[in-house]
Amino acid sequence: PEEPGLEALQHVDVAALLPVPGAESDKYRRGVVGIAAGSARYPGAAVLAVAGALRGGAGAVRYVGPAADAVIARFPEVLVSDQGPKHAGRVQAWVVGPGAGDDASVVGEVVSADVPVLIDADGLRLADRDAVRARTAPTLMTPHAGEAAALLGVAREEVEGARLASARELAARYGATVLLKGSTTLIADAAGGAVRVNSTGTGWLATAGSGDVLSGLAGSLLAAGLSALDAGSVAAYLHGLAGRLASDGAPVGAHDVAEAVVRAWRDVR
Ligand code: AMP
Ligand code: MG
Repeated sequence: PEEPGLEALQHVDVAALLPVPGAESDKYRRGVVGIAAGSARYPGAAVLAVAGALRGGAGAVRYVGPAADAVIARFPEVLVSDQGPKHAGRVQAWVVGPGAGDDASVVGEVVSADVPVLIDADGLRLADRDAVRARTAPTLMTPHAGEAAALLGVAREEVEGARLASARELAARYGATVLLKGSTTLIADAAGGAVRVNSTGTGWLATAGSGDVLSGLAGSLLAAGLSALDAGSVAAYLHGLAGRLASDGAPVGAHDVAEAVVRAWRDVR
């Protein structure tokens, strides 16, 4: 838009990226997304990440972590595993971090997996930078300004005053695609190039658990085969639109946003 190097996400471009199952599709070809999230303290983060993942186009959602009972009670279609990520069974993309607490070993296992990985929230704090840099499969990191500031070792205001440069810097440092959340969301690829901007959101999305829904949604799109740049772009667009549709000018909870992703998808397609 105003700034060079920025590319506004357009409805038609997002529509063209939505995965659509065909006659030859089965749940494995559509993709299995693994969610390693939640903790005894924050079981809801797991439920919300799963809720996002179920609306994101993967053929199956697998959950690994201490909130399996809460997840299954809400979503009986989820596959749960009592093993860690390494032995959880087939997974084509992982989401790690929302509400995860301090379990660095789970984050390490996911980061070493040779499939696309989305790292959010506690996962951003716990992930080893060299291990992330060493990954060969796509990596998508989804910090808000505070998390980005912690990763860069600067004050939050510094990120807020230089969002484009911060997203690019993080992408370069980690060799990852970076989705920097906020009232607009920036998606920067590790290889450089234009940074995508999403503006479909609303201030009503500034609510607890909102980012967890986005993580699951983007992870699901990664499992469906989208690149990290495209998965982040489509997820941000749908999530923002879902927030608008769910809210329609009134307060909403994150679970309302997850449910509205279906309507956002229909609107876009
Ligand atoms: P988190 O901070 O991880 O819970 O993520 C919050 C989510 O809500 C992100 O997707 C943000 O982009 C979105 N969000 C937060 N504040 C706003 C805002 N003022 N306008 C639009 N979207 C927002
Ligand atoms: Mg968050």
